[in-house]
Order: sequence, then C-alpha cells, then structure tokens
Amino acid sequence: MNKQELLRNLPQIDVVLDHSLLSEYPDEYKDILLKSARQVVDELRNKILNGSIATKDDIDINSIVLTIKEKIEQQEEYELKRIINCTGVILHTNLGRARLSERALENVKNVSCGYSNLEYDLKSGQRGSRHDHIEKLLKELVGVEAAIAVNNNAAATMLCLSALAEGKKSMVSRGELVEIGGSFRIPDILKRSGSILCEVGTTNKTKPQDYIDGIDEDAGILLKVHTSNYRIVGFTTETSVSELSEISLEYNIPLVHDLGSGLIDSLTDNGIDEISVKESLKDGSDVVLFSGDKMLGGPQCGIIAGKKKYIDMMKKHPLARVFRVDKMTLAALEGTLHDYLYSTTTHENNPTLRMITYTEDELQKRATDLKTYIEKNTGIYTANVIPCEGQIGGGSAPLVSLSGFGVTLESSSFSAQKIERMLRKQSIPVIVRIADDKVLIDVRTVHDDEFEIITAALKNIEKEV
Ligand SMILES: *Cc1c(COP(=O)(O)O)cnc(C)c1O
Repeated sequence: MNKQELLRNLPQIDVVLDHSLLSEYPDEYKDILLKSARQVVDELRNKILNGSIATKDDIDINSIVLTIKEKIEQQEEYELKRIINCTGVILHTNLGRARLSERALENVKNVSCGYSNLEYDLKSGQRGSRHDHIEKLLKELVGVEAAIAVNNNAAATMLCLSALAEGKKSMVSRGELVEIGGSFRIPDILKRSGSILCEVGTTNKTKPQDYIDGIDEDAGILLKVHTSNYRIVGFTTETSVSELSEISLEYNIPLVHDLGSGLIDSLTDNGIDEISVKESLKDGSDVVLFSGDKMLGGPQCGIIAGKKKYIDMMKKHPLARVFRVDKMTLAALEGTLHDYLYSTTTHENNPTLRMITYTEDELQKRATDLKTYIEKNTGIYTANVIPCEGQIGGGSAPLVSLSGFGVTLESSSFSAQKIERMLRKQSIPVIVRIADDKVLIDVRTVHDDEFEIITAALKNIEKEV
C-alpha cells in the first residue's frame, strides 16, 4: 500500500477520542487526552512517511487508544517516587536513607496540611521560636541543656565551627580528617567556616599530649570526628572523648563531637560498635552533632545538642537562618522523638531500629513467607531461602555486617540481569541485588506489606515471556 493510502487510513482525532476506553476519563482529562491523541497519531503519520510502517495492519485504533492511555499514565507518574529496597542496606543514601515512622508521617500530615504554631507561642500569643518544639524533646531524651535542628549534619558542622571557632583553631586528629559521602570533607568545611585547621597527631596514632602540644591562645575548639565510614585498624591509638574532656576542662576549650550516625542508645548487644549520643555526652562532649536520617531513623536534618552557652551562639549566628529547617522536617523529627520518649516499643515503631534489630529467626521466617507467597502467585521463578549479609549503610558502622536471610530467584525465561532491570522499571520500582547470578531479595529492608508489591512486579514481568 502506498503512503497516501496509508495516511488516509489514519483515524480522525474525534473518532479516537470517542473510543469507549477513552470516553471513560472524566472531563478534566479533556486537554491531556486531545494532546496525547494528537501525539500518537502524529507519531504514526511520521512512521508512514519515513517508511517504517508499510501495511494497514499496523494502523489499529485499539492499539492507538492503548498507547494514549499509557502516555497519560506515564505523565501522571511522579519523578520522585516510592521504591522497594531489597538490597539489605538499611540507610541507603541513594534510596533516601531512613524510612519514617508512622508517628512521624502522621505529624507531618497534621502540621503541613493546615497552619501551625511553627513560630507562634500559644501561651503568650506572641512570636515564638521554631527551635523550641524539638529542643524540649531532645533535652528530655539525651539530657542536654539546649538543642537546635538544621538542614543536615554537614550544615550542623558548618554552623558549629562558624559560631564557635571562626578565626580560631579547630584541633582535629589527622586520623579523623575524613570525607563522608560525596563532597563532605572535614578540612573543606573547616576552611569554609573561617576556622583554622590545626592537625594533631598522626594518621594512625593521636595521643592526648598531641592535642595539648597544639594548644595556644588561638585554640578555638577540640573537634572529634567519628570516622563513620572507615576504621583505622592495626597499630593505632585514638584519644577518647573522656580524655579529650579532661583537656577541654583543664584548658577551657569546648569539646565538639561530630558523631554522624545519631544512635541514641548503644546497640552493643546487637553487635553494633557505634558510639551513641548519650555515651558521648556522658563522657564529656560539650556539643554533639548528628544526622536525623541515619541511625536516629528520622527525617534529613542535622541535630546540634549540648551546653546552652554554645547552642545560643549558634542560634544567633546568621548561618542558623540559612540552614533552618521547615515545618515538615520539624514535624517528622518531633514524631520520631516521640517514638523514643513516649513509647515502650521504640524498636518496633522506628523502622531503622526495627530493621537493625531483627533476629535471624525472624528474618528466616519472613524470607520463608516471601518465598511461599512468590511461589503461590507466580509461575516462572524458582525461589529459595538463603542466609545473606545486610548492612547499616549511610556511612555508619562500616565493619558491621548484619546476618540475615533473603530469597533468591532464578528463571529459565530470563537472566538475573534481565529480571533486575525489569523489576527496576516497574511503576513501583523494586531494587534488588544480584549474587551468584541470582536475583537476591534481602528481606531485612522489605516490610511485610511490600511482599505483595514485589510479587505483583514479578507477575507483571511474566507477561513478557
Ligand atoms: C554522615 C556524616 C556527616 C554528614 O551528615 P549529613 O546529614 O549527610 O549532612 C557528617 N559527619 C559525620 C561524622 C557523618 O557520619
């Protein structure tokens, strides 16, 4: 058939729009339907003109209508979307770090869909401070005099150094001049804050005397940085918070501890060798800094807590306004802190702590449940339960691997790589690892109510066989 004849076979736009599958859309879809219909028919016209369509059979009203429906669905999809994390890495920076608790989410919704007392004192009817809401809770939770939340821990570090050590020396061990995540380097932040880097000791050994030797009239702060994402092992000496605290008291120089992970209570019973916020404060830190979305298990933010004298200097600093957090973050943080303070089941409610503290038995049972569910509802996969290792991630506890269980999937229809790719392309993408040429789903980072989504995705892929 020649091109002219083929072009005459293209349906009129009105005819396409009158199709029963499109007439079910409500009125507000009128414009997008018209636009999509024109696009789809134009694409067909171009294909006829460039010769990639040569028969009448390729011009089918039903497939045109289905393509239009698909187009509309794609346009309605968000760019930033929910995904299912089957990697076993709990605080995956690429995947949004901590999941929020129910209480945190509920508070975000309540506070954000209406007006709030963000900066309004309900007692006096006067202007209030946005810092007060969470300060009260942090005072109670970790026993500090004052606290403030900013955009993230990088901002917390910047604000703290600017307010306490601008033009003065920040004394840091050479073994703690770390880079954390892309582009957060302690020496760079220090320089930007206007503080002067005073390197102390050596890469593997830093002793209390090394700090004392560096102290002069320009000394601003003693800065201890938790080497969150790496460990120096072997012939090493690290000056502890308690030892630094003694120097801090003797020479009257504030001790700042950048903790990163924000673990509130020690988890040594679970084999996690991260220093907690409470330990650091108990050992004598004047100010601690930590992330909201690492092991605290809350929203992205940076928390600065400690002596009122120092926190007040930070609250008054111009950068506090630059780094301030919005009501949604404060609401999520408040909800997260309520879980710690007013719940006897914090480890159940806080998804991060829950995922860290699963027992192997629990994980084995859950993996078995997932395997059974997949086998019952799909047809082309061989599923097996195997032991596997998860991680805390997010640059926390780099040496800890969390023993758990997962489900492997194999199929004679598709390679593991193909399954991985197709799972990633679903409307709710499912992100898996590949191990030993098999798809691996670590159930540690998957919630029970997500088993259904994973299974639906696997079923969807079967259509492509
Ligand atoms: C993660 C981390 C940071 C950066 O925190 P963000 O919240 O990602 O900005 C800073 N310091 C330490 C020690 C960290 O572990």
